[in-house]
Formats: sequence, C-alpha cells, structure tokens
Amino acid sequence: MRKRFNLLTVLLQIGVVILFIFGIYLFLNRNQQPVHQGNGKAKTEKRSQKKTSADQTTALPDVSPDDWELVLVNRDHITAEMNPDLTDINSISVDSRIAEKTREFLAAAQAIDASEHLISGYRSVAYQEELYNSYVAQEKANDSSLSQEEAEKQVQTYSQPPGASEHQTGLAIDMSTVDSLNQSKPETVAKVAELAPKYGFVLRFPKDKKHATGIDYEDWHYRYVGVKSAKYMTKHNLTLEEYLEKLKEK
Ligand SMILES: [Zn+2]
Repeated sequence: MRKRFNLLTVLLQIGVVILFIFGIYLFLNRNQQPVHQGNGKAKTEKRSQKKTSADQTTALPDVSPDDWELVLVNRDHITAEMNPDLTDINSISVDSRIAEKTREFLAAAQAIDASEHLISGYRSVAYQEELYNSYVAQEKANDSSLSQEEAEKQVQTYSQPPGASEHQTGLAIDMSTVDSLNQSKPETVAKVAELAPKYGFVLRFPKDKKHATGIDYEDWHYRYVGVKSAKYMTKHNLTLEEYLEKLKEK
C-alpha cells in the first residue's frame, strides 16, 4: 500500500515535472517567436540595404557635367585656347591639378612594362594648328593629287584640327611603350587601361567606340576625368561623350 502510494507520488511528481518542462517550452517558444520575426525583419532590412547600395554603385557618381575634369573638347566642341596652369613631368606638360595622379599612373604603368613613357601632354591650340598644318602639307607632299579637303580628311584619322584636340585641356596624355600609335603589345595596353581608373584616367578612344568619339582606336591616349567618373565609365563601357549625356539626363 505504501509502495503504491510512493509510486503514485513519483508518477505525480514526474507528471508535474513534465508539465513544468512543457510549460517552459511553450513560454520560451512564445517569447522566441517575436525574436524570430525580429531577425527575419532585420534580414529583410539588411537585404534591402544591400540592394540599395548595389543600386548606388550603378547610379551615376555625384559629379556635375560642368566639373573641370569633365570638359569636352572634340570636333563638335571646338574650344578656344584654355591656358591651364602647367606642371612638367619628364618634360611633358599637364594641368597642374592632375600632375600627382599622372606621376602615379605613369609609375604604375612602368611597373607593368618599364618602357612605358609619356609621349605627349598639353598642346596649345596654336601648336596644334602648326602640327595639323604640317601633317596636311605632308599628306599633300606624299600624294600631289590630294585636294586640301582630302588631305585634311586623311590627317583627321590621326590628328585633330586646332580647337578640337583634347590635348589643349592639359588633361590628356599619350603614354605607350613605343613612340608609334597602336604599336604597343595589346596585353600591356589592356593591363594599363585596366588600372587607369584608379588614377582617374580612362583610355579615351577605345576600339568599338568611333561612333561616339568620332576617333579611331588609340592605344596611347588617356584622359583624366577624376577617379569616380573613370571607374564608372570603365565599368559601364562609356566614352566621355556618352557619360556626359547620362549626367545631363540626370
Ligand atoms: Zn593623344
């Protein structure tokens, strides 16, 4: 009888313990539910934050098409003498504001190929005129049947008329391993062009963009546009003409 009583007490005690554990389980579960929801919400927020920052990387940089780095000079934008403040790097002049970045870019290019060197930088409109006229005279000398117009058309495949060359901005450099256009090793050009945006430069006249730039491929002509713009333009395969259109639409 006593044993039975003991057994009953033990069973009751076990029952109470089970009920107690079950109660705790329910209680914890109920408390955990909002925590789960909270986590879920936080995750969703994180995800949407991620989405926002991804959107921001595809969004245009916070620059103005009127910034000095983005000045557009081409045959459709003939520009008068600009007279920038100049700094010489290895006897090549550039706008003083980009001198440091130019030095860094040159050094980085030389780390890829030691023969990388500056060929041209700032050229005044007056000097471009001399250069252009001398090229036209050369074309005529080579082929006396050429008219002035035909000779100029020929020259414009490799040189710009006065007022139409980006070199007058002081923001453009020609840099290559050799002194002839499009004669550098394509692998070297690709490597240099890839690191250019880090220093604010873009390869200005890419192969497939004559429709936008009006100029045939040039493996040596780099243009300073600022780091933010250079990275964006390279990532989205935009020329300065195309990029400025987008900035103006904004
Ligand atoms: Zn050039």
